[in-house]
Amino acid sequence: MKLAVIGTGYVGLVSGVCFSELGNEVVCVDNVQAKVDMLNNGEVPIHEPGLKELISSNMVAGRLSFTTDLASAVGSSEIIIIAVGTPSLPDGRANLTYIEQAAKEIGQAIDTYKVIVVKSTVPVGTNEKVADIIREYATVSFDFASVPEFLREGSAVKDTMNPDRIIIGTASERAAEKLTALHSPLTNQITITDVRSSEMIKYASNAFLATKISFINEIANICEKVGANVEEVANGMGMDRRIGSSFLKAGIGYGGSCFPKDTQALIQIAGQMDYDFKLLKSVVEVNSDQRFNVIRKLEELLGDVAGCTIGIWGLAFKPETDDVRDAPALDIIETLLARGAQVKAYDPIASSNFERNFNRSEVKYCQSAQEAATEADALCILTEWKEFSNIPLSSIQQWLKSPNLIDGRNIYREEDLKDTPFAYYSIGRPRMN
Ligand code: NAD
Repeated sequence: MKLAVIGTGYVGLVSGVCFSELGNEVVCVDNVQAKVDMLNNGEVPIHEPGLKELISSNMVAGRLSFTTDLASAVGSSEIIIIAVGTPSLPDGRANLTYIEQAAKEIGQAIDTYKVIVVKSTVPVGTNEKVADIIREYATVSFDFASVPEFLREGSAVKDTMNPDRIIIGTASERAAEKLTALHSPLTNQITITDVRSSEMIKYASNAFLATKISFINEIANICEKVGANVEEVANGMGMDRRIGSSFLKAGIGYGGSCFPKDTQALIQIAGQMDYDFKLLKSVVEVNSDQRFNVIRKLEELLGDVAGCTIGIWGLAFKPETDDVRDAPALDIIETLLARGAQVKAYDPIASSNFERNFNRSEVKYCQSAQEAATEADALCILTEWKEFSNIPLSSIQQWLKSPNLIDGRNIYREEDLKDTPFAYYSIGRPRMN
């Protein structure tokens, strides 16, 4: 099939590339010329394992191309997939400017029947608004469908090629058939539903996963007080198939470009209908507070952090991504600086993205884990990169001024700490040293 994908971010680029890998002819469109130039030169603007290789092989095979020319991409395609960003507005609602602009441009460009898909995460009712905008400009018929995306950054290619399910929300049989044919090489778990339910499935899924994370983090906080170990608790809970073991890892909370914005947006969606989503509000509040456990533990260890040098390992909101949007490290470093600390920070791949968002002279961005830890009064681990757990504690001990370690992601075990001089704090586990 011939596809146009609008927006070459984490979702659009990965989806477009994976559809081309399945044998479709895909044109990926972005309105940022620099991004399109990079892609045309074989460079990849985001970090996703396996993506670069798939881009080059599909470009060579002639099935994948990149352009800023939306009109020509749309004109030559049967299916148009919108995957532009829907970031938060200051009040938490989703910003629909990009999607409305894309809809207008699509409406102006289409000249034969098309199936138009919204893959971006959008509030209930947005697909209908998008269709209204297209109708305002288009002179030909089209069908529309909501096909929300569930990939995770860091494993986006794998998730796209092996999805748990595909949700197709549409009132059109013709669109349902076409989109089922497009997705059937990926899975046979394809559900056709109405548009509004499809839009809601995406928010409800993310809100539920965020709830699981905040739930286990609150259990972790209680475990610390009663002397239980949250990892044992999560393991015991997860064996129950009704609960399941995923998303029960205690830490410093969720971040990234999806859970924070989608939980806020769902609270707003409910609020606009005069429904007070109390549970989700608490999930958000628990998550915002959880990151400050790192500061509380540091202050327990060092007293006042003013004048101290704090090493930070991990700036991305999770491993295997360079995405720093709403990463816990942003709030943690901001608070450390406000309290007078100096910060030395290192991330295997997210440092330059982080620095672009957080360019402060009191932060030294380091080239290695060793450099960030050297002569620091304490080291905080904020992202569970494999690189960090491979570093022996004896090396960290040599590098630090004092052996103070705050492990926000529970990467060390009790036996690692045995016979070491570390003052070690983790999340939801009894003091191990
Ligand atoms: P992103 O910000 O990484 O990428 C969006 C891209 O769209 C940018 O490259 C931007 O330049 C481009 N764009 C904006 N307006 C355009 C226009 N009119 N024409 C052409 N290009 C345009 O966003 P993302 O992380 O890929 O997310 C996209 C959507 O998918 C969001 O709604 C998000 O909530 C949802 N989603 C994201 C993830 C994720 O893990 N990132 C997962 C599932 C769903």
